[in-house]
Amino acid sequence: MKYRPENTPPESLRARDETELCSTQHARPAKSFNDMHWLKQLGVRTIATTGVQRLFMTPFESQVTSLLFHRFFGPGESVSCGRERIRKMCGWLSQKFTVLNADQFADCLPTQEFPERTLLITIDDAHKEVLDVIDVFQQFGISPVVFVPLGWIDSASSQQPEPTLAAMVTLLEHSDDCHWKLEFSNGVCVDLKSQGRLSGIDTIVELCANSEGFTAELRNQLTEFDAKSRDLTSEFCTWHELQSLHQMGVSMGSHSVSHCRMAGHSAGRLRYEFEESRRVLIQRFGTCRLFAYPYGTRDVHDAHTEKLLHAAGYDNAFLVHAGFGLNGKRFALPRVDIPDLELNDRLFRALSVGAQIPLIHSKNVFRKEHRRHPKSDQ
Ligand SMILES: [Zn+2]
Repeated sequence: MKYRPENTPPESLRARDETELCSTQHARPAKSFNDMHWLKQLGVRTIATTGVQRLFMTPFESQVTSLLFHRFFGPGESVSCGRERIRKMCGWLSQKFTVLNADQFADCLPTQEFPERTLLITIDDAHKEVLDVIDVFQQFGISPVVFVPLGWIDSASSQQPEPTLAAMVTLLEHSDDCHWKLEFSNGVCVDLKSQGRLSGIDTIVELCANSEGFTAELRNQLTEFDAKSRDLTSEFCTWHELQSLHQMGVSMGSHSVSHCRMAGHSAGRLRYEFEESRRVLIQRFGTCRLFAYPYGTRDVHDAHTEKLLHAAGYDNAFLVHAGFGLNGKRFALPRVDIPDLELNDRLFRALSVGAQIPLIHSKNVFRKEHRRHPKSDQ
């Protein structure tokens, strides 16, 4: 996809005028912002307006903030209205924060010497919606980092003559009906149903990672690859689209090969997820310093994953938990998750400065206490 000159909508929107755009609705089922629990909204707003978060957190001036986006339009929101909302959001962010790009952020990490009110914008999964808003970010000098799930992009890219091992492993990881029984010429048989998905994929990765011959044998047996993979990946950018984003100043980080939950996987599989995704991103974009754990919850991360990420050559890795303190945790950095909703200005600003963090911390403390004393409330 090519892009129109700066400050204009991308090519995908070129044929439509603004009237048409206003009526263009995204395909997701209509669900309003009000679907968020009203008590949570009230809590976040109250904390934001009273400044209670300052009692719990690092002063705003010395915070290092990373925001996480997945998609950019609320369910049922028109493209033009969404772009206008993103424009206001970017204007406020560029006024309030010092926005760094991925390289500048990674360069500051070893010494932890960040500019005041540092902000990094991160986007997970490379959903096509990023193509509709990237020029708005660019207008405000904001260069986000996109965390790329290699297998989804390989599958979505029509220029791939044959599916890569990454695309096939990704299909096996996410297919609802994982019934395949695969036989290879060296006598190895993988029955994903009886053997189990994790163990079966481990065997396939070990066998195919270093042998194109076995990868071709796998391809011949995955007869439903094309149809199933198309369903899985049609919403994500292709390599060509990512290359266009890169030329507009967007950095690329790894979001693994198959977008799997890292916890519970073998060391061999983890090495493949970390090393292969980084290898391909370096080959295509010249560098890949950052990693973001798929799903990003604390339980996908441990000392073992940190060690393997470090060995694979990454500078740091992000989880998805609300916080601003880095505390030297290079491979478990916090990010504030911005929900895929039509957030109004006030709520977006409250989330960005961490108004929800005291609520989340309180909830975590309550859960821990409840686990420790399960009968105390009876
Ligand atoms: Zn993801």
